[in-house]
Amino acid sequence: MTIVYEPIIGLEVHAELATHSKMFCACPVVDTTQVEPNVAVCPVCAGMPGVLPVVNQKAVELGLRVALALDCEIAPCSLFARKNYFYPDLPKGYQISQYENPLAVNGKITIHTSQGEKVVRIRRVHLEEDTGKLTHIAESVKNSETEATPAHTLIDLNRAGVPLLEIVTEPDLHSAEQVGAYARALHSLLRYLKVNSGDMQKGAMRIEPNISIRPEGSVTFGIRCEIKNLNSFRALERSVDYEIQRQSILLDEGKPVIQETRGWVDEQGITVTQRSKEEAHDYRYFPEPDLPPLVVEREWVEQIRASLPELPIARLRRFQSQYQLSAYDAEVLTAEQETADYFETALAAAPGISPKMFANWICGELFGLLNQAQTSLVDCSLSPQSLADLVRLVAAGEINQGTGKTVLAEMFNSGKEAEAIIADHGLRQISDGDAIAGLVRQALENNPSQVQTYLGGKTSIAQWLFGQVMKSAKGQANPQVVRQELNKQLEGLKNQS
Ligand code: ADP
Ligand code: ZN
Ligand code: MG
Repeated sequence: MTIVYEPIIGLEVHAELATHSKMFCACPVVDTTQVEPNVAVCPVCAGMPGVLPVVNQKAVELGLRVALALDCEIAPCSLFARKNYFYPDLPKGYQISQYENPLAVNGKITIHTSQGEKVVRIRRVHLEEDTGKLTHIAESVKNSETEATPAHTLIDLNRAGVPLLEIVTEPDLHSAEQVGAYARALHSLLRYLKVNSGDMQKGAMRIEPNISIRPEGSVTFGIRCEIKNLNSFRALERSVDYEIQRQSILLDEGKPVIQETRGWVDEQGITVTQRSKEEAHDYRYFPEPDLPPLVVEREWVEQIRASLPELPIARLRRFQSQYQLSAYDAEVLTAEQETADYFETALAAAPGISPKMFANWICGELFGLLNQAQTSLVDCSLSPQSLADLVRLVAAGEINQGTGKTVLAEMFNSGKEAEAIIADHGLRQISDGDAIAGLVRQALENNPSQVQTYLGGKTSIAQWLFGQVMKSAKGQANPQVVRQELNKQLEGLKNQS
């Protein structure tokens, strides 16, 4: 008998908060991929003795925005704590974090999966600081230009002390798909709230899934493994799937799962042991003596709550009800605030055109062009008003769908308006009945043997004849009118014969 296992997954996410300065000092937050190492460092974030940290109010505000958007209870008074461990990227020898009294607890977020909506409980949201960055350099041998160097490690403290928000879920997730949906929903939320750059490749949001499995029906949790620092949705989903498989095989073979921290090796598609799981007591947590308790006034919380934008889930539901869009379209359009705004601006610029038509043009054609050009909606020059002009011309039958796509591509690349491109290239659709009747007559005269085939009963050849007419009209004829006219003339010939 094979045992069916139920995966249990909880996630920890570290999100950099988009402040100008660091969490406990005035050093600027810089893009570590763009600036020289160690240019944004002071005695506080370098961990010099005798310095004093000061809490960055903006970071607290951004943290509260997230906590409120996640429907958390905000602690009127939270505490910073020292999490002690030694690693060279942490010059103080401890990280200032929050432990027993976090900023906020007991929240929730709604996610979308192929099985519908699901609520994931948020256990806690707390503030902490990021570490520096280590670069390990391998040993090099002497050549004509350089001396030999032993293996060594470089350290960049630009990131040390950058504010981080840690968001921890309850173990409510049960598959790689759900985990991916949660991570995307959170990413979208952080972007809507303008608290995080969303740039996962640069490590702005790092995900750590905790995974265990248990025989279906069992009520106790299995032993979990934690996968460290994933920075893409794909790596997250793949690693969770792998880990579920790995643990299932172990249990099937009667071997134990060992509680540990594992790393994802993307090239090989596997997780590997990094270190055995440390327990809270290993960190010797104690309240940070250099910082007073963080008291958050009710009034401030309410001000922040009132300033929250319409959140992705609310906007998604509104798009479904107000515009009759499918869950899928609504989700794609609302994942990024910019896309949702773009859609609504375009829609408002073309009264009477169906929202679905805009959804198709934006999610299909426009996203395709953005993808090809490796750019984003924010950086592209095509305004929603210009898109609306184009869609209006298609809806009015001035140009057909196919021509519309060509025109859009040219608008996208040249910045010209739809009307101008259509006029320049003489692309206006032929909808005139007489003109189309002429084209059809010509096509039937030019292809007598195919017409005979049709009259002989093989009516599917009509499609080929349709193609001939469209070709002679250089794709600009109104397809519905052509189809009607073609049927009419063929039926006429049938009745004569
Ligand atoms: P830490 O990893 O720092 O010890 P926690 O014990 O609070 O922190 O757990 C971190 C995450 O692991 C949470 O998201 C929690 O839901 C999840 N988790 C806890 N126990 C399990 C388990 N047995 N299986 C899967 N996830 C778990
Ligand atoms: Zn500093
Ligand atoms: Mg953990």
